[in-house]
This record gives sequence, C-alpha cells and structure tokens, in this order.
Amino acid sequence: MLKTPEEYVQSLRELDPVVYIRGKRIESVPDEPLLEPGVNAVSVTYEFALLPEYADTMTAVSHVTGRKVNRLLHINTSQNDLLKKLEMVRLLCRETGCAQRYLCHDALNALYETTHNVDLHFGTEYHVKFLTYLEYLQDADLTASVAMTDAKGDRSKRPHEQHDPDLYLRIVGRDDSGITVRGIKAIVTGAPYTHEIIVLPTRSMTAEDQDYAVSFAVPIDTEGVELVSRQAGRPGESGAPLTSRYGQATAQILFDDVFVPWDRVFLAGEWELAGSLTESFATHHRVSCIGARAGLGDMLIGASAALSEANGLDPEKTGHIRDKIADLIKYVESSYACGVTAAVFGKETRSGNFIPDPVYSNIGKLLQGTHIYEMFRIVHDTAGGILVASPYPEDIESPPVGERLARYLQCREDVPTDYRLSVARLLEDITASYQGGWYSVISISGGGSPEATRLQIMRKYDIDERKSLAEKISGA
Ligand SMILES: Cc1cc2nc3c(=O)[nH]c(=O)nc-3n(C[C@H](O)[C@H](O)[C@H](O)COP(=O)(O)OP(=O)(O)OC[C@H]3O[C@@H](n4cnc5c(N)ncnc54)[C@H](O)[C@@H]3O)c2cc1C
Repeated sequence: MLKTPEEYVQSLRELDPVVYIRGKRIESVPDEPLLEPGVNAVSVTYEFALLPEYADTMTAVSHVTGRKVNRLLHINTSQNDLLKKLEMVRLLCRETGCAQRYLCHDALNALYETTHNVDLHFGTEYHVKFLTYLEYLQDADLTASVAMTDAKGDRSKRPHEQHDPDLYLRIVGRDDSGITVRGIKAIVTGAPYTHEIIVLPTRSMTAEDQDYAVSFAVPIDTEGVELVSRQAGRPGESGAPLTSRYGQATAQILFDDVFVPWDRVFLAGEWELAGSLTESFATHHRVSCIGARAGLGDMLIGASAALSEANGLDPEKTGHIRDKIADLIKYVESSYACGVTAAVFGKETRSGNFIPDPVYSNIGKLLQGTHIYEMFRIVHDTAGGILVASPYPEDIESPPVGERLARYLQCREDVPTDYRLSVARLLEDITASYQGGWYSVISISGGGSPEATRLQIMRKYDIDERKSLAEKISGA
C-alpha cells in the first residue's frame, strides 16, 4: 500500500537508528532540524505517488504481487519502465534538487538480475529470498539507502591486499543462521531517514577477496549499525530557497560485527559475480544520475533566463545571453537524450527484468558529470555578482534599509526587486553556496568517477565492429 508523506515520517519515528552528527547522537531523526530537508525530499517521493496527474510516472503494477507500488520500488519489465524511471527521477529532482530514493530502485533491479544469475551458476537460493524481501519493501512502501562504496584504503590494492583487512566491508563469520559482517560503507545517501540499508559490493573480486563479495539488507536500526551523518542541505538558512527546504545527507555506516540472517543475504562469497552486481547497479544508477541532474538543469535554465530578464536583458534577443542559455539547454538535454536512448535500447536480462543500454547510460553520466562545471560557469556569467551579493530576505524586510534596498536594486521597472533577488538566491543556493560545491561534486563523483564511466564505455562499445568497417572501406 502506498504510504502518505505523513505515514513515511511517522514510520521513521518507529525506528531507533544510531545516528551521530558533529559528535552528537540524534534523538529522533524525523524531528531533527539538521535532517529535515532530507526527510522533506524523500517525502516528495511519497507525495507525488499519490497525485493523480503523476500516477503513470510515479507508480507501477508490481509483476511480483500484481499490486500498485511506488515506481521507485518497481522491477523494470520493459523499455517503457526504463523510460518512466528516467522521467520520474527528473520530475522528483526538479522539485527537490535530489530525491535520493532512486538508489533503492537501482539496487533492487541489480539484485533481481544478479541473484538469479548466482543461483544459475552455483545452485544457491538467493533469488527467491530476494523476491520475499522485495515484496516486503513494496507492500510496506519502504525506502532503502544503498551502501556500495567501501572505504577502499589504498586505491592501487585489492580488498585482500590492504594493510587493514576491514577497509572493505567483509564477512567475518558464518553459521547455519546467517553471516556476521564488519567494516564501513563510506558514502551513503540519505541513510538516516531510510528504513533499510541495502549493501552491495563495490567492485569485481578475486578468489582471495571472497569474504568481501557480500550483499545483504538490514533494517536501519539493526544492532551494531552506526551512522555518522552530515546535515541535509542548508537547514534554517533564510537565503537558501531550495536547500533550506530540500537537501541530502550523506553518512558513513559502521558495521561492528553485525549479524545478518540468511533470508536477508543475497551474495556471500560467490566472488565471480560480485563485479556483475556492481556493474548492473552502476548501469541502472547512472541513468538515475542523468535524470537527477536534468532536474537540476531545469532549475538552472529557468532561473538563468528569469534573472537575465529581470536584469533587463531578453534572453532571446541579447545575442550572448541567448547563446549561453542555448548552451545550458544543450548540456542538459544531450545528457538526458543519452538516458532516453539507454532506456529505448534497454535489454531484457536472463532473469526477465530490463536493464538500460550500458554505453548510453555511461555516456550520459560522463557528459553530465563533466559538463556541470561549464554549466555553472555559464550561470555565473549570465547572472552577474548579485548571485552571491543579494541582501538576505530579513534585510529587505527590515524597516531602516528594506525600502531603499528594494528601490536601488531594482533593474527593470516592471519586475519587482524581490523577484530578482529571489531568483538570484536560488542560483547562489544551487551553484555558489556550500550546496553549489556539493552539487558539482555529486555530479562528478556520485554514481562513479568519470574514469569509471570511460572504462565501461570502452568495455561495452563494439570497437571491433568499427575496426572491421574501417578495414572493409579501406581495403586494409
Ligand atoms: C554526494 C554523494 C553521494 C553519494 N552517495 C552514495 C550512495 O548512496 N551509495 C554509495 O555506495 N556511494 C555513494 N557515493 C559514492 C560514489 O559512488 C563515489 O564517490 C564514487 O564511486 C567515487 O569513489 P570515491 O569517492 O571513493 O573516489 P576515489 O575512488 O577515491 O576516486 C578518486 C579518483 O581516483 C581515481 N581512482 C580510484 N581508484 C583508482 C584505481 N584503482 N586506478 C586508477 N584510478 C583510480 C578515480 O577514477 C578518481 O579520479 C556518493 C558520492 C557522493 C559525492
């Protein structure tokens, strides 16, 4: 059953995770002001699923239960599902900046495919256990964070070669009832305000890395799990129109000899397929990154055009402003077009779900991650210094100076100063504040580094076919 936003918040109150921010234990996550923008952002994924106008985008019929579910918990059963997922992420992120819950969708689809493959290879029974878990998430309309990125230690070494054996999360014990795991997952989006943690391996493994080839799910308040989180967005800041309302926390998750029962374990030592689980997640997730940053791009385009207009420069008539806005559109929509292509060229896996085309998924992510800096340059250039120099809303309202500020800072006669400053503050918030830096870092690193996407493009692109073509045409 679909939860309302209020039911989501209430369901968080029923959990008791160990969360620290700046060294202090958080008493109640949904009531903590530093996390409020994050809870608000995830709440939108619940709110939109209940709106009739978004029903087609935000919900789907589960092929496992036949019941209506939030699309963020849906297994893709067609190319159309892949496309809808992309549209859904853009829709959510143009409202919230980053709605975070899509990571869960990507992990569920990767696990659906990989548990099936592991069972085929090893005669294990992970898929059926995964289906039970999936049904649980879908029916209760839960949200899960996805903990893939390990601390990784020395980047030139494999997990078993590290000076400390716990720098990648690993299995330290197993018996008839389950496994025990130890280590840390180093960067986990939205973790404090989720119900569950889904753990995935971060890379391909070798036989010596067997204990590191592990995937499972645990409730967020499982014994031995501790979260060290950052705040979400810029809570309480009057000059932050977006990120005081919506934001994203990231957390380190410590696993201190945590017990996981077998019915929640989806990979435990089958190192040969750890890499395919990582790769499948990355392929789904990079399309989500494309949709998410297209949503941010929508804000950048709209706010840049609006501010130029308020400044008295018509973006369609002032040559260089027109060129710059056109370039912004080019960057946003070329990456998004790769997401669309990845969905349209998506393929059915052996398990029966659909996965996006990996070449276009990675190209779109690469474009988005590397163009963000050029997009911010264009925004700063078109906006001018007011972007970081706007008086705070309190100053505009303050009797001694407010009226004069409003008078002198007006540009076009027919556009109120408040309009100009509000739009400038939005652009500062998302491109030049602490959150602006954050948005550039999430764009380049979130979902994998540019190098990781280039490697995948080279692995998956059919270069031999192109070489044959060149040989045929040239007669070589
Ligand atoms: C805001 C944000 C949210 C995130 N949310 C999540 C989340 O919810 N869940 C999750 O699991 N992860 C999450 N991540 C982590 C993200 O996937 C990683 O940041 C990304 O994969 C890069 O890994 P890293 O940060 O460890 O960087 P590093 O691996 O340290 O990479 C730094 C540089 O070193 C290069 N490099 C690394 N290893 C090698 C090597 N062996 N050889 C050559 N070059 C190398 C990289 O290409 C890159 O250029 C998030 C990241 C951010 C910024």
